Amino acid sequence: MNYYAAPVRDLRFVLEEMLAHRSLALPGFEEATPDLVEAVLEEAAKLAGDVWGPLNSTGDRQGAKRHTDGSVTTPEGFAAAYQAYVEGGWNGIGVSEELGGQNLPEVVASAVQEMLHGANMALGLCPMLTAGAIEALAHHGSDALKATYLPKLVEGSWTGTMNLTEPQAGSDLSKVRTKAVPEGDHYRISGQKIYITWGEHDAAENIIHLVLARKPDAPEGNKGISLFLVPKFLVNDDGSLGERNDVTCASIEHKLGIHGSPTCTLSFGENGGAVGYLVGEEGRGLNHMFTMMNEARHKVGIQGIGVAERACQHALAYANDRTQGRSPKQRGGSECTISDHFDVRRMLLSMRARTDALRALALYCAGQLDIARRAESDAERQAAQACADVLIPIVKSFSTDQAVDIASMGVQVHGGMGYVEETGAAQLLRDARIAPIYEGTNGI
Ligand SMILES: Cc1cc2nc3c(=O)[nH]c(=O)nc-3n(C[C@H](O)[C@H](O)[C@H](O)COP(=O)(O)OP(=O)(O)OC[C@H]3O[C@@H](n4cnc5c(N)ncnc54)[C@H](O)[C@@H]3O)c2cc1C
Repeated sequence: MNYYAAPVRDLRFVLEEMLAHRSLALPGFEEATPDLVEAVLEEAAKLAGDVWGPLNSTGDRQGAKRHTDGSVTTPEGFAAAYQAYVEGGWNGIGVSEELGGQNLPEVVASAVQEMLHGANMALGLCPMLTAGAIEALAHHGSDALKATYLPKLVEGSWTGTMNLTEPQAGSDLSKVRTKAVPEGDHYRISGQKIYITWGEHDAAENIIHLVLARKPDAPEGNKGISLFLVPKFLVNDDGSLGERNDVTCASIEHKLGIHGSPTCTLSFGENGGAVGYLVGEEGRGLNHMFTMMNEARHKVGIQGIGVAERACQHALAYANDRTQGRSPKQRGGSECTISDHFDVRRMLLSMRARTDALRALALYCAGQLDIARRAESDAERQAAQACADVLIPIVKSFSTDQAVDIASMGVQVHGGMGYVEETGAAQLLRDARIAPIYEGTNGI
């Protein structure tokens, strides 16, 4: 019963009927026809339903494992499932053609992301973090950094991480202490970052860490923080992988949910300093990170919707199977499934209605991002950006708070079977619980 069927019909309803495929009419998306979008959604649904989805509970049970040499292995099947995603070209679907991507609108990429997160949120985090790294580099990296790192990141054969948090610097990043000492054309990075998602793993050849750090003479507070690129393996001039850089995984967290996603403590510079390269301007690291994080928040909202959708499917399937009590439709009615009981219906409908509404809002917001990037007139672009700026925090916080509530209601539909791990309903609640916390807490 623990399955996931990607909601292609519902996604198409929003894209085609509610948004009238507005994004496809924008300049630059001429090749993205409605037929192509339909085919993309159908193919993504196969990857999500057949390859990623079945690994969701394996990932939860096995979790990521760190070994004494600092290496981390992901749960059985995760590396192969990620490889299937890379080989299918999925990592670049929302990335522009000039950066080596498929150049599909954000609204289509968001629909695909929802399916992947619904199928397997822990695995979905890996490309989600890479997307953040791509965006930060594309906007702020030098031509040389872009040429060396973007093609592999866009392809997905290298993955990306975002290194902001330190023990004393959580919501308040002005407290970041990681050091960056200039040395020739690069910097030597030292310090400790905590909670780094997919900070070490066995699913890709190289990991590209984007790290907030400050120069020794930098002022205190936000203005002293710069952004650096620190590869796990240094890259030779011919693009091949060179020496291991001075960054190691000191530990991984044992946590409530998303067990398949390695949440790492990373130590930089225990042996003289990790080689790092400045991204963008010195002292503007936080700004550079935040341009990227704004859109990452939209993706976290989408993540919540993916899990909420899975919770709906899960609860409905259970409710249609479990028999208990007599049909309330007539006095002395026959034995019935719990989906016949009005209170169970109330829960199922509430879960479904909220999930559909969240999806519509998130995809509308993605459509505004497309207009903000591609519309012909300045006025149209600015208006759409202003709309997206208002909606993104709402999509992030409302969708993720609702996802927790929807997954919790899913547990309730299952009765006692929801509270024991066997059905998988509890995993959805545990997985969903992180989304209101990371990428900026919902309260803030
Ligand atoms: C599984 C997981 C994965 C993560 N992945 C990453 C990652 O890849 N990269 C990364 O850099 N970080 C990552 N994080 C860190 C995450 O972003 C932080 O945990 C989060 O930003 C909150 O910081 P904190 O834990 O220090 O909480 P705190 O900042 O200590 O906050 C605790 C509480 O106080 C509230 N609070 C704090 N300040 C204010 C304020 N000014 N106004 C109102 N309320 C406030 C918060 O809302 C929260 O409720 C991850 C965390 C987890 C658990």
